[in-house]
Amino acid sequence: MSALLVDNIGELVTNGVGEGPLGIRRSAAVLIEEGRVAWVGPAAYAPAADRRIDAGGAAVLPGFVDSHAHLVFAGDRAAEFAARMAGEPYTGGGIRTTVGATRAATDEELRSTVRRLRGEALRQGTTTIEIKSGYGLNVADEARSLRIAAEFTEDTTFLGAHVVPAEYADRPDDYVGLVCGPMLAAAAPHAKWIDVFCERGAFDVDHARAILACGQAVGLGVRLHANQLGPGPGVRLGVELGAASVDHCTHLSDADVDALASTRIDCMCHEGQHTSTVATLLPGAEFSTRSPYPDARRLLDAGVTVALATDCNPGSSYTSSMPFCIALAVREMRMTPAEAVWAATAGGARALRRDDVGVLTPGARADLLVLDAPSYLHLAYRPGVPLIHQVIRNGVPQ
Ligand SMILES: [Zn+2]
Repeated sequence: MSALLVDNIGELVTNGVGEGPLGIRRSAAVLIEEGRVAWVGPAAYAPAADRRIDAGGAAVLPGFVDSHAHLVFAGDRAAEFAARMAGEPYTGGGIRTTVGATRAATDEELRSTVRRLRGEALRQGTTTIEIKSGYGLNVADEARSLRIAAEFTEDTTFLGAHVVPAEYADRPDDYVGLVCGPMLAAAAPHAKWIDVFCERGAFDVDHARAILACGQAVGLGVRLHANQLGPGPGVRLGVELGAASVDHCTHLSDADVDALASTRIDCMCHEGQHTSTVATLLPGAEFSTRSPYPDARRLLDAGVTVALATDCNPGSSYTSSMPFCIALAVREMRMTPAEAVWAATAGGARALRRDDVGVLTPGARADLLVLDAPSYLHLAYRPGVPLIHQVIRNGVPQ
């Protein structure tokens, strides 16, 4: 059996047993066997291995878990971004532009975009990524979007209810029927999750509830886009349905925060407790739409489990960089660097209900990042700098 030892780690973030909320160990080593973490401990006691990577005293942390990304699309919306920066508001209406381009693209064009963005994210340390459909919005194009997404990740999400496409603009009830009927039937074999954009101008709470319930009935897990552009019932709907995650959470009432906090459960995980519905914050969207950021402190202080993700998409957040999101969360949302790094690793894993990623403890998938820095603090302290020195995914150096 071939073993790989990552040795001479100055600061190891485990998100397990160790110092502080990140479970930090110093002068550590990690032994990898068959794609899994086999042993974690002091470098001085490291077992023998066939191969060795010398971290040179640098920081090592779990690979990032990006639990919210829209990678299956064609075209870009750089002109819309420029107009927005010149003062036009973001309404979500530009999604239809991408729908037109996506429907016109070949399978190979869509696949090569996903491959390019997946590679871009991996080089920046993302070792687990969720990928949504949502730019096909008809039976054939939603099904093929998910088929292509499934070539790149096991966390695929059916987002046929992204917006009502132009051809159904005056009969949204009919579109909801299509999503719940033939579109879901074609999408479900390729999807693990179902998602709805529950927002004024997209889907109201009754439509969202109906669509998510149909997905649950065929075994898909629930997540949703909620309370991004204004206050609304989306977050409470997510809690009502037992969603793994409600995403955006930019405009929250006290009742929304209380509802999230009420999902707190005891768990065998390192934290001992977390909320079964995670609040996933997507600061790249606020950055790219020049909007107020969500109040992360209010959620954290209420005991809500928070994840950070990129929302990578061509309209409102065209970044694949988790380090960028960490820097934004610290600078703009007043999360501590430790909270932000936890949210981008273990938090993302919670949002995807996975316990095999986001941690570096024995048995976990061997997804590790070696930084070009002595501490995880540098991820926020040195924004925009390529600090990901080496990525190991599934035990394989990339
Ligand atoms: Zn999104």
